[in-house]
Amino acid sequence: MTHPILAALGVDDTHSGTYLGQGAWASATNGAMIEVRAPRDGSVLGHVQASSAGDYERVVQRAEAAFKEWRQVPAPRRGEAVRLCGEALRKHKDALGSLVALEMGKIKPEGDGEVQEMIDIADFAVGQARMLYGLSMHSERPGHRMYEQWHPLGLVGIISAFNFPVAVWAWNAFIAAVCGDISIWKPSPKVPFSAIAALKICSEALRAGGFPDIFFLFNDAGTELATRFVDDRRVGLISFTGSTAVGRSVGQRVAGRMGRSLLELGGNNAIIVDESADLKLAIPAIVFGAVGTAGQRCTSTRRLIVHRAIHAVVVEKLKAAYAQVEHRVGDPTDPGTLMGPLIDAAAVQRYEQAIATARAAGGQVAFGGGKLDRPGNYVRPTLITGLAPDAEVIQHETFAPILYVLPFDTISEAIAIQNGVPQGLSSAIFTQNLKHAEQFLCCTGSDCGIANVNIGTSGAEIGGAFGGEKDTGGGRESGSDAWKAYMRRQTDTINYSDALPLAQGIKFEF
Ligand code: NAD
Repeated sequence: MTHPILAALGVDDTHSGTYLGQGAWASATNGAMIEVRAPRDGSVLGHVQASSAGDYERVVQRAEAAFKEWRQVPAPRRGEAVRLCGEALRKHKDALGSLVALEMGKIKPEGDGEVQEMIDIADFAVGQARMLYGLSMHSERPGHRMYEQWHPLGLVGIISAFNFPVAVWAWNAFIAAVCGDISIWKPSPKVPFSAIAALKICSEALRAGGFPDIFFLFNDAGTELATRFVDDRRVGLISFTGSTAVGRSVGQRVAGRMGRSLLELGGNNAIIVDESADLKLAIPAIVFGAVGTAGQRCTSTRRLIVHRAIHAVVVEKLKAAYAQVEHRVGDPTDPGTLMGPLIDAAAVQRYEQAIATARAAGGQVAFGGGKLDRPGNYVRPTLITGLAPDAEVIQHETFAPILYVLPFDTISEAIAIQNGVPQGLSSAIFTQNLKHAEQFLCCTGSDCGIANVNIGTSGAEIGGAFGGEKDTGGGRESGSDAWKAYMRRQTDTINYSDALPLAQGIKFEF
């Protein structure tokens, strides 16, 4: 029987994974079936029919045809289409948030929060649709006008990670839509139902509003079609969210065909807590950052860099807080739960492996350190002290609730530790010392795409450009001027004089 949460969203437990437009889902597919298991207990939620090579080709051809029309629709009218999607998501927020919690394993308020992010970016995109501004420049030649304009780019490929099953798509698809692009989504095979439900809500809202299809979807059981997608010259931009290992290869392949990529990859985020910090703010920020979403956010706090003078007191406070959280580890759909399970058994193994490696390197487990003995992928929130900042295990992102606590003596040492990892996504300092805050934010301070003062590393508002440096991939999406990645810039010069002056005063007479 179809799970009631799927049924509430009109999704069958053996749904097609290919959306072809005009309300049609591919039916006769020779693709494989993707089995979806709920992280809370390992039970089978249902199956999604993976797309075949033929399905993929139909999706791309329909998207290409759709682009020829959509690019000519005035941008404010495109904004109206996205507004309708936002309205539909408001209506389905509770059901879609529940599905995200059930399928991905994040707690229900975080599932709802993810849908709220979709609504927020829809609102943002509606406004952006009237602000696709280009500059005008003063020409150096008399009787000439020079300006730039932004044209729709074409097809935008969105490859998303399991941990944000729906919000990352909206960040990309809604901005791409107002920019005049058509998007094709390949979600993570770990969370395909959330993707199907989100796409259904939005495409039905578009059709009810008299709009054409601007969002397409296919699902790949493995990586064959995903690789074809990355290599497909018809797809102008590949926006990839996922691990650094996969993202590195995606970026190289897209560059090889001179395509554009937007890479949102792994983080290794740190909070610095200096001796002046207000611990009433710092402790909850650290706990939420490290154990929220069971440590499965790209912005999760993985390293705590704390002044030596308060190291012991901070660790004691964290142990007390972790003990409270541990009592409320459980079913993500239960309102009392603070921390849900990891996504799958392989993630639990990686968690255990990281702790074993940390122990072997001399680390001490101050709290947690193992899985919980019950069905489902539940682990204990874990604190590890006593490791050197450059210990191998700390240099990697382990997608689990493990926090490494590292002492420092001077602010420059703290910043050097913070920057001393390959990744560069999110960073924070807790301080009441203005000089420390400014040193952290200045050009010799944090090398991350996100740097916060007196708020943690985890989560972000859609109004800013989101992304990070170094092995995090350099991409920026969501707010600010991130829309520019979804358009092509054209510089135009118009000569309204009767002469043909050449640039730089060059004379070319014949
Ligand atoms: P992943 O790299 O395993 O998978 C991401 C996506 O890539 C999935 O859709 C997957 O099916 C697809 N994929 C796998 N192999 C591919 C290939 N060869 N070609 C094309 N696509 C391929 O990542 P994950 O485990 O789903 O997600 C967790 C990772 O994502 C973490 O590293 C996390 O930090 C990162 N993440 C980053 C951000 C960000 O904005 N920076 C946001 C969310 C997650």
